[in-house]
Amino acid sequence: MHQIDGKTRVLGIIGHPVGHSLSPVMQNAALAACRLNYVYVAFNVHPDNLEESILGLRSLGVAGFNVTIPHKSSIIPYLDGLDVSAQSACAVNTVKNVDGRLIGFNTDGDGLVRSLAEDLDFLPGDGDIVVIGAGGAARGAVASLCRAGASRVIIFNRTPARALELVESFSLMSCTTEILIAADSSELKAYMKNASLLINTTSVGMNQDVLPFVDLADLSNNGRIYDMVYAPSVTPLLHQASKIGLRAANGLGMLAGQGELAFQIWTGILPPSGLMKSCLLNICDS
Ligand code: NAP
Repeated sequence: MHQIDGKTRVLGIIGHPVGHSLSPVMQNAALAACRLNYVYVAFNVHPDNLEESILGLRSLGVAGFNVTIPHKSSIIPYLDGLDVSAQSACAVNTVKNVDGRLIGFNTDGDGLVRSLAEDLDFLPGDGDIVVIGAGGAARGAVASLCRAGASRVIIFNRTPARALELVESFSLMSCTTEILIAADSSELKAYMKNASLLINTTSVGMNQDVLPFVDLADLSNNGRIYDMVYAPSVTPLLHQASKIGLRAANGLGMLAGQGELAFQIWTGILPPSGLMKSCLLNICDS
């Protein structure tokens, strides 16, 4: 790591809790590899202290920071501007300090698109994509898949009203992607038959729980599976995929991808390819 001195600039992550975050390790490793005089630290910010924390980060002149649960949407009123990535995702995961103005970005969805290419050789235009879930992660994913040229995205959620809300919000945006809802499990089954990719954007799998309504046997033989969950590294969904021989990946590559893109926003350069992912793999294996 660069010697911390009077010119060291501060980057960080705000969240609550935040102690489990893997970002400090991968970001500091990338800063060291690029010999940049920055340090990246975690700030535990309680929701009640969000506004004053943002004022403090701005007045202390931090160079930028990541934003994680539960602040990704609630931070928006305290920022000075939003990039299109944050506007379309209605959420911010990266903030850059531009001459005292805090600008919000969202790199989660584009991190997913990077990971789909690297881990599954999948490009958004390669075929129908079924997205399970309609929360914040799904919104960011759909926004980036649309920008990256997906032709058709089908959303299925346990609570159909939330899926409808998501689809309606995209109808207001200029996007050529056809975005549909699978209203029930039989519609989901029919859409899965023609899908090239299924993405789990729900938290199901974190506790070894099984995604309801989804049977991977409904996908064609060359269908691929992406699970945004990365701990455990093999979720029940990924286990089922490997049992029936479908190509699949967990969300570790997305975590690395969003981090690489945030690093580029702050520093103007991308970290060495694969460095953040290998840091994450080292942490998860130890
Ligand atoms: P969120 O806004 O709270 O949305 C949660 C989603 O999961 C909703 O669609 C919810 O459905 C669904 N869900 C929760 N429990 C369920 C269950 N038992 N059965 C069926 N559906 C269920 O959360 P989020 O911010 O979108 O995050 C979702 C997941 O993505 C988290 O595990 C997060 O760690 C992961 N993620 C990973 C990365 C990465 O870099 N790999 C990045 C961002 C997020 P209802 O609407 O019916 O409640």
